[in-house]
Amino acid sequence: MAINNLANGDLLQVGQELIIPGGTGEAIATAYTVAPGDTLAGIAAAFNTSSADVVATNRLIIDNPPLIVGQQVPIISRSGSAAARPVHGRPYLVESGDTLLLVAARNGISPSELAAANGLASDAYLFPGQRLRIPDEEAIYRDLPQGWVDVRLSAPITTQGSTLSIFVENLMPGTPAGRFGQQALHFSPDGEGYVALIGIDAFEEPGTYDLEISGGDERGLWAPLRIQLPLVEGAFDTQYIEVGEALDGLLDPEMRASEDEFLKTIYADFSEDQRWEGIFQTPLTTTIVSAAYGGRRSYNGGPIEIYHTGIDYAAAEGTTVLAPAGGVVVFSAPLELRGNVIIIDHGLGVMTGYYHLLESLVKPGDNVTAGQPIGRVGSTGLSTGAHLHWDLRIMDITVDPALWTQQAFP
Ligand SMILES: [Zn+2]
Repeated sequence: MAINNLANGDLLQVGQELIIPGGTGEAIATAYTVAPGDTLAGIAAAFNTSSADVVATNRLIIDNPPLIVGQQVPIISRSGSAAARPVHGRPYLVESGDTLLLVAARNGISPSELAAANGLASDAYLFPGQRLRIPDEEAIYRDLPQGWVDVRLSAPITTQGSTLSIFVENLMPGTPAGRFGQQALHFSPDGEGYVALIGIDAFEEPGTYDLEISGGDERGLWAPLRIQLPLVEGAFDTQYIEVGEALDGLLDPEMRASEDEFLKTIYADFSEDQRWEGIFQTPLTTTIVSAAYGGRRSYNGGPIEIYHTGIDYAAAEGTTVLAPAGGVVVFSAPLELRGNVIIIDHGLGVMTGYYHLLESLVKPGDNVTAGQPIGRVGSTGLSTGAHLHWDLRIMDITVDPALWTQQAFP
């Protein structure tokens, strides 16, 4: 068929990917995995197309080829009968030689984001003539319920470890409230509307999440808004760490749990004023990443039950640590695991933490500006050498701080 730029002639082969054209409407590619008992006619019917079209589209010369259980079947559905998918993003027509990796790289997104935006498996082949959607940097929602003026998300798809910001504006008076999955959202006034930040931790289960927003006051309630948001897997490494006997006692899970519990009382505090502007600076002038955010961690060969909550920068002891953005110091004291710790509250639920410091140059209550020295790199607490561990949390949810040095939030 023309849409696939294919000729007749091939037999169906084990592991081959099928392309199934749909009926009428907008053509968007998606993927279908063959299940036990599937027939070509059955799949064709489920997607409102015909076996003959599937055969022609896939260059098949037999009418009833065997299907392989587990086989990936790309589908072009024009009927809307395939699974729900986002309709945001720029259209893109696949050319000869295109792969998910190439198209994603050219558009500055990850292959998994591109696949998720198009309902494709992450290892799906692309074919010339296939229609894709390139996710927008920002998703602007249309066809909103009555009363809603503007609803924008910083991305139409989210990834483990990322940050999302949402802006909403409603004609009715009142303040919005909402949730993302089980996470409650905290909105602050922003121009004509309200803004909230959403943190996605590195262990958040991939899938489709409901983003629900309501609002209003005694004069009336806003029409509730629900957005379905795909969350895709991030690319994280596994970090095997050997800790010597002297620090072994610090590996006690109960000690970690109680320190985490204590930190939560600081990190989960919400202050409405945004104290930063634009992108964050890195907290060291020279940055050598020794351990990235999100790495799955095993200590002394033990099981992987935690992930690396921030970024480790290798640096000589005594190197000056700088505030990455404006904020107010809310904590500066030693802890058993994290060593000497500083925590800065930037507002809107965003806080940054600096661990294993040799010393702190600030005290709680101090206002800091971007680039201001706040401490010195050390190796205090559960640390195997001089380095700076940098956390960024949104309402105590640890996200990748690197994104904040590349993109301005909210
Ligand atoms: Zn670290």
